[in-house]
Amino acid sequence: MDLNPTPEDRAFRAETRRWLEAHVPRGELEAADERRAWHRQLYEAGHIGMGWPREYGGRGATPMQQAIVADELARINAPPYMNHLGISIVGPTIIVHGTEAQKRRYLKKILTAEELWCQLYSEPNAGSDLASLRTRAEDRGDHFVVNGQKIWTSGGAAADWGLLLARTDPAAPKHKGISCFLLDMRQPGVEARPLRQITGSAHFAEVFMTDARAEKTDVIGRLGQGWEIAQTTLSYERGGNSLARVTRYAAAFGQLVRAARALTRDGRPLLDDPRVRSRLGRIYAELEVQRYAALRVLSALEKGEQPGAASSITKLSYSEFEKRYHELAQEILGPWGQLTARPPHDFLEVDTSSGEAGTWAHAFLWSRAGTIYAGSSEIQKNVIADRVLGLPKEPRADRSASAPSPSSGGRGSG
Ligand SMILES: Cc1cc2nc3c(=O)[nH]c(=O)nc-3n(C[C@H](O)[C@H](O)[C@H](O)COP(=O)(O)OP(=O)(O)OC[C@H]3O[C@@H](n4cnc5c(N)ncnc54)[C@H](O)[C@@H]3O)c2cc1C
Repeated sequence: MDLNPTPEDRAFRAETRRWLEAHVPRGELEAADERRAWHRQLYEAGHIGMGWPREYGGRGATPMQQAIVADELARINAPPYMNHLGISIVGPTIIVHGTEAQKRRYLKKILTAEELWCQLYSEPNAGSDLASLRTRAEDRGDHFVVNGQKIWTSGGAAADWGLLLARTDPAAPKHKGISCFLLDMRQPGVEARPLRQITGSAHFAEVFMTDARAEKTDVIGRLGQGWEIAQTTLSYERGGNSLARVTRYAAAFGQLVRAARALTRDGRPLLDDPRVRSRLGRIYAELEVQRYAALRVLSALEKGEQPGAASSITKLSYSEFEKRYHELAQEILGPWGQLTARPPHDFLEVDTSSGEAGTWAHAFLWSRAGTIYAGSSEIQKNVIADRVLGLPKEPRADRSASAPSPSSGGRGSG
C-alpha cells in the first residue's frame, strides 16, 4: 500500500478545493429549493456519482478521486448532496443488474435528484434476518401486486421511488424466493408514515403497501435473484466514504479540543486536566487508526480489489469508534454536552455523520445509529467470523430455530 498521493491526486485535490471554496453555500440550507440548487451545482461540476460510468452520467472517476471529493466536501463542511441512497446504492445496483431500458429511464434522474429514492428492505420482523421478510409480490400477468409493511425506511416520506425486496415465491427456500423491484412510491397503494426518533427529526418512515402495483419492467435482475442483488447493495453500503468520515471525526475532534480549552472547572480550562488530556490523546490515536484503515481500503480499491466481506471490519471498527468518541465527548462536556437547542457558543456546535450540523447531544444520539444500520455490530462480527476468518460454525443444536445463521448473510441495510 502506497500512502503518498500522486502528483495527479494532489492537482485534483487542489482543483476540487478551489472549486468548493468558490461555490460552497455559506450557512445551512433550510429551503428545499436551496438544497436542490446546491445539488445541481455539484452535479454539473461532476462531483455527483463520480464513479459511475460516463455513459450513465458519471465521470468514470477513480476511487481515489471520489475519496478526494468526499474528503474535501467534509473538510469545508459543505451541505450534503441530496438523494444519498439513490446515488450510493440504487444507481449502482441498477448499473450492475438493471436492463438497458431501466438504466435509461432511471439513472440520470437519480443523479440530478429529480427523483428521490429510498430502500425498502427492513420489516418489523426482518432486520438482521432480512431473508425472513414477508412482503409479498404476486404475479398478475402484466404486473405484480405488492402487499406488506416496511420499517426504518430512511427518507421514505420524501421518496418518489423505492428499491424493494419482496417475496415472489413463498414455496421456495427463504433466500431463493425473494425478488427485487423498483416501486413507485407516489401511487395510492403506498403510504409512508414518518417516524420521529429521539433526536426530534423524522429521518425514517414506515411504509405500508396495500395492493400496490409494481411493473414487470421494474423487476431488477431475475425473479428469485433478490437476495443476491441485496448483497451487492449491502457491500456498497459498507464500503465507501471512509476517508471523508475520518475528516469529519478530525473536525469534531478539533471542536472538542476548542471546547475543552474554553470550558473551565475550578477556574481552570478543562484541557489542563491531565485526565482530560490523556483521554483526548487516546481517542486521537484511535482516530488516526481509522485514517489508516480508510487508506488501506482505498488502496485496495485503487488496485481494483473488492473489499467484499472484509468491508464488515471497516464498518464494525468505525461505528464502534464513533460511539466511544461521543461517549468521551459527553464525559468531557458534562452538562454542556446535553444541550439540544442551538448552543450559546460556536465551539458547542458539531457536525454529525448524518451530515446535519447540530449539537453534541444530537451527535451522541446519532452515533448509536452506525452500529445498527447496514447490519448491526453483532451481525458484522458474525460475517467476519464466518466469511473473513473462516471460523467453524456453531453446532446446529445450539442455535435457536429462528436465529439466522451467519452464513445466511445476516444482513442489514441502510
Ligand atoms: C439510521 C438507520 C437507517 C436505516 N435505514 C434503513 C433503510 O433506509 N432501509 C431499510 O430497509 N432499513 C433501514 N434501517 C434498518 C436496519 O437495517 C435494521 O435496523 C438493522 O438491520 C437491524 O435490524 P432490526 O432493527 O430489526 O434489529 P434485530 O435484527 O431485531 O436485532 C436486535 C438485536 O439482536 C441482535 N442480533 C440479531 N440477530 C443476531 C445474530 N444472528 N447474532 C447475534 N446478534 C443478533 C442485533 O445485533 C441487535 O442488537 C436503518 C437503521 C438505522 C439505525
